[in-house]
Amino acid sequence: MRDATKIIRSTLTHAVAGEPLNTGPVFAAPYHTPGDSSDTPYTYARAHNPTWTALEKAIGQMESGQLASGEVYTASALVFASGMAACTAVFGAILRPGDVVVLPSNAYYTARILLQEYFAMMGVVLRMAPTAGNAQAELLEGARLLWIESPSNPGMEICDITMLCDKAHRAGVLVAVDNTTPTPLGQLPLALGADFSVASDSKAMTGHSDLLLGHVAMRNPELLAKIDHWRTLTGAALGPMEAWLALRSIATLPLRLERSCENAQRIAEFLTTRSEAKSVLYPGLPTHPGHDIAAKQMRYFGPVLSFVLRDKAAAEVFVAKSSLLTDATSFGGVTTTAERRAKWGGDAVAGGFIRMSAGCEAIEDLIEDMAQALDAIR
Ligand SMILES: *Cc1c(COP(=O)(O)O)cnc(C)c1O
Repeated sequence: MRDATKIIRSTLTHAVAGEPLNTGPVFAAPYHTPGDSSDTPYTYARAHNPTWTALEKAIGQMESGQLASGEVYTASALVFASGMAACTAVFGAILRPGDVVVLPSNAYYTARILLQEYFAMMGVVLRMAPTAGNAQAELLEGARLLWIESPSNPGMEICDITMLCDKAHRAGVLVAVDNTTPTPLGQLPLALGADFSVASDSKAMTGHSDLLLGHVAMRNPELLAKIDHWRTLTGAALGPMEAWLALRSIATLPLRLERSCENAQRIAEFLTTRSEAKSVLYPGLPTHPGHDIAAKQMRYFGPVLSFVLRDKAAAEVFVAKSSLLTDATSFGGVTTTAERRAKWGGDAVAGGFIRMSAGCEAIEDLIEDMAQALDAIR
């Protein structure tokens, strides 16, 4: 069965004659638990919820695949209240004082700050190198966890995930990939050898700019138990309504991702013809330094691209003059968005740096709109 069919079928939870095709969310704190606690599948909603179970099955199926060795594996996914709760679960469940974590220096900045401000203060040692050029491979000696983000955000740098996983595993290092930008449909970290596939599903995975959630997927049952235990203890629990909306949203992921990635490619190609846009960064462009590796490890190059305009003022005019590019952070929604990235601090980017997320609109409209907004900054 092909992906689109599998994903859509996986979101149908119920087939009972005369009943709705989709049951609604299950709202619960305690469940009715006669007898021993192990006699009922659900006991208390901080630990488990049937709506999570349905979503986790669908995501677990998406994260399942085949290793380079040919071995077919089944992944398990655990859902969290946000992408950051999912990242925190991996850090918290795995890292102990004295452990070394190898982090991209350009990693998603909230994850980087969390490690610097809390985990480093509690004795975890951070080593950082850029995503580009597989620079993290040089820092693995004696480490506990390698954290990878490819494509990186917002610089769109690419690293070779298979090569880094091989090298890390030979050194006894666990590997986690923050796979938010491509989603498991665009890139399968576990198939490339990673131990954890971590994502914010607030972005392209659910795609409507109205949900906050994340997940961690794994092949190994011991790692699964550790992450599950962390979630139950810390209470990073996803609301059942969000879980249910997410289940509904991911049914259209194949449609949305196909359209938004095609739009991103067309926009990137268009921008390379415009002198106002310098250094257009999109892994789908053959001129991108990571293009060959991206083409090998990604099925879609993702909805996100960036480029640099002359300066802050030009970037402000561009965003204000475009009527179809909503000025907003985040990415992966059906609506095309753009932002002047430097306004957030956090990332080392030029004043005119624009991060853009292609939505699902008609590409002709987006390009006409961008063309007139670029004319305005000449
Ligand atoms: C947004 C994002 C996160 C954090 O996810 P939230 O759902 O906002 O908590 C983590 N990593 C990457 C790459 C992201 O883009």
